[in-house]
Amino acid sequence: MEGSPSGSAKAVTIGQNDRSKPTLTAYTIETVESSPFAQNAYLLWRQGEASALVFDPGFDTWSLRRWLENQRLGLAAILNTHGHADHIAGNRTMKEVYPDAPLYIGRNEAFLLNDPEANMSGPFGQPLVSPEADRLVSDGERIKLGGFDLEVREIPGHSPGSVVFLCDEFDPYFVLGGDVLFSGSIGRTDLGGDFSKLMSGIHAKLFTLPDSTVVYPGHGPPTTVGAEKRSNPFVGAASGHYRLN
Ligand SMILES: [Zn+2]
Repeated sequence: MEGSPSGSAKAVTIGQNDRSKPTLTAYTIETVESSPFAQNAYLLWRQGEASALVFDPGFDTWSLRRWLENQRLGLAAILNTHGHADHIAGNRTMKEVYPDAPLYIGRNEAFLLNDPEANMSGPFGQPLVSPEADRLVSDGERIKLGGFDLEVREIPGHSPGSVVFLCDEFDPYFVLGGDVLFSGSIGRTDLGGDFSKLMSGIHAKLFTLPDSTVVYPGHGPPTTVGAEKRSNPFVGAASGHYRLN
């Protein structure tokens, strides 16, 4: 399956802790939900690669490390969709354990890493800062990491420079989406965010993807672009803010 043209490879996903599927798979995505914000960290591994990627390591770095150790995998990179505390809390530990793994975050989001007021850890009473980023990414950029070729799409509104990471090498496409679009909801915009920016970003940069595209959000279960286009009560057709073709 590797090297197949974009979009035509048939991938079997082993995800959501389901190890019972056949082993003939192109990639594995593993969710680690952590307390107290029910935040989803994701481990993404391409079959045949020696290292995986971690997206938004949260408060439960123990489970992230245990999974990597059980799979006998290294860590190719740490990627942050945005800089809110629950999504960056594990950056320091993961960097300490895997010092060669570079830390990626959106160019317009990086200042949250070392600003406890901006990253919301101060207001929640437990100020935290993350190590500095090693790489700042921009809207439209493609990055090759851990055997994946990911496209960066910046969608601000929940936070100043949130990005999502799109993988369009498999069918269906999938997106590591952070706190932009949830199953039946969207990221909150009452903490200095901007609803209209968030909505227009979702319409332009997520709702233009195939309906089958799977979104792995920062909180709650996965969803698809098609389901949210139809029924999302904030930005979908059900909200009156979006018209289905
Ligand atoms: Zn957030």
